Amino acid sequence: MSRHREGKVYLVGAGPGDAGLITIRGVEVLRAADCVIYDKLVNPSLLKFARADAEIIHTPKRTKQGSFTQERINKLLIEKASKGLTVARLKGGDPCIFGRGGQEAAILARAGIDFEIVPGVTAAIAAAGYAGIMLTDREYSSQVVFVTGRQAEGKRKSGIDWGWLGRFEGTIVLYMAMENLEFISAELMKNGMAGQMPAAVITNATLPSQRIVRTSLELLGEKCRQQAIEPPAIVIIGAAADSDASLNWFENKPLFGKNIVVTRHEDGNADFAAKIVRRGGNPIEFSTMKIKPVIRKDFFQKKLGKFEQYDWVVFTSVNGVAIFFDYLEGIGRDARIFGRAKVAAIGAETAAKLREFGLRADFVPAVYTSEELGKGLIDFVQTSKGKKARSGMGGDLGQKRILLLRSELASNELAELLKAAGAEVDEVAVYSITAKKGKSEWLKQKIAAGAVDWITFASPFSVRVFFEKVPAEVINSSDVKVASIGPVTSKQLEELGIKVDVEPAEHTIEGLLEAIEEDCRK
Ligand code: SAH
Repeated sequence: MSRHREGKVYLVGAGPGDAGLITIRGVEVLRAADCVIYDKLVNPSLLKFARADAEIIHTPKRTKQGSFTQERINKLLIEKASKGLTVARLKGGDPCIFGRGGQEAAILARAGIDFEIVPGVTAAIAAAGYAGIMLTDREYSSQVVFVTGRQAEGKRKSGIDWGWLGRFEGTIVLYMAMENLEFISAELMKNGMAGQMPAAVITNATLPSQRIVRTSLELLGEKCRQQAIEPPAIVIIGAAADSDASLNWFENKPLFGKNIVVTRHEDGNADFAAKIVRRGGNPIEFSTMKIKPVIRKDFFQKKLGKFEQYDWVVFTSVNGVAIFFDYLEGIGRDARIFGRAKVAAIGAETAAKLREFGLRADFVPAVYTSEELGKGLIDFVQTSKGKKARSGMGGDLGQKRILLLRSELASNELAELLKAAGAEVDEVAVYSITAKKGKSEWLKQKIAAGAVDWITFASPFSVRVFFEKVPAEVINSSDVKVASIGPVTSKQLEELGIKVDVEPAEHTIEGLLEAIEEDCRK
């Protein structure tokens, strides 16, 4: 007789904010979980690792409808695990540093439920690292202490020995201390610590909104009040806090603190946003379009069945590659259908996507426009046949059979060029692009409030949709800068009366970000 499957709870440290700071083990657990329960301080972008069918439960401590008390969370963990589910309980930072992970573990153990603890990068370590502050140093700090600032008031019985901390020679790191700063610094000074002792406060550590206030113990409360510093924040007190500003690598990133609007489709925006975050910027998501696969069921019989007949297969975008291979997977086929056909890709990103599916593009043009692809392909075919390229267009692609896998919306410029050169061209729409509906008032307000630095455009289509929602005057009457991926997109912007501030020589997302960085360095 098969036994009922046993549930299990993983108490997982999600790291302090930057989604990249979760551990590999943490991601493994997330991927496998039937149910994900996550806290307020967990970066929601980590949920992308959860299974599409996983149950996702958000448990902020205080909500308008009441509160997710610890007791309720404990019950939830037991209830889900008792049903035989694998539960990933995601907690900010490390689950057991001021995180009640210990309490949850004890309750699970008592209920006889299997559990594991996956440690995480705790806020103290992360804040120090992202601020360039060394918590230990052989010169001035041989010991570190992590303290909670919440029990400071002494209303509840405090386990904190301020007398001892006031004489502590090393680095003191305080969690949850923002409400009690005045009290804490007074206690430390009363017990012997110098008022000039360096202090640093790091809020939203590891996120694009990170800020550091550097001050001294005696001015700690006042400075934070003046600068309206809000939780979550880590307070570091001791010689360590007086670190060299040149070590602050994170805030020295060129895009640090820059608010950058991304206007592609959902997947494209997610990818773009992750790149912005890695460069220290703050992505603002504003999707303008939706992408839908349009490959017909009988497509395989009609075209792919005769795949060997093609000399070239041309992919014009990353989307095209992803959707085409999704389709292949769905009909139980793989890259082998390409046989002897050669493969061309518009752009390094399209070529990189092809490599994910085991295909190396035979040809990637140096400049990523249809025109360049057409000319390049013609040259490539001619020279590889050993013939000298004829001057001008209208070269010799005699009888070459070419399959273009493209978007429904694409211009037929490329097909025309290839046909003019003598090729037989089949064009197949792999996906369609439609305008995405949605509100835009919030973005207009952000722009008007000066909370947007850049707006980026990666296609003429997204330009058109964007300016149907946001009038050109909103941009033109602000300090917002506009970045365009290439000449076709720039032309569309200019036609709508928008000045293009940067356009990279390499028409890729990476190129676009490089160009924005360069402008920011000026
Ligand atoms: N288990 C968590 C701590 C939870 S207590 C950990 O290991 O990090 C909540 C406190 O953590 C906050 O009040 C703040 O002091 C600190 N904290 C969490 N995330 C932070 C962040 N991104 N920046 C600064 N402090 C943070």
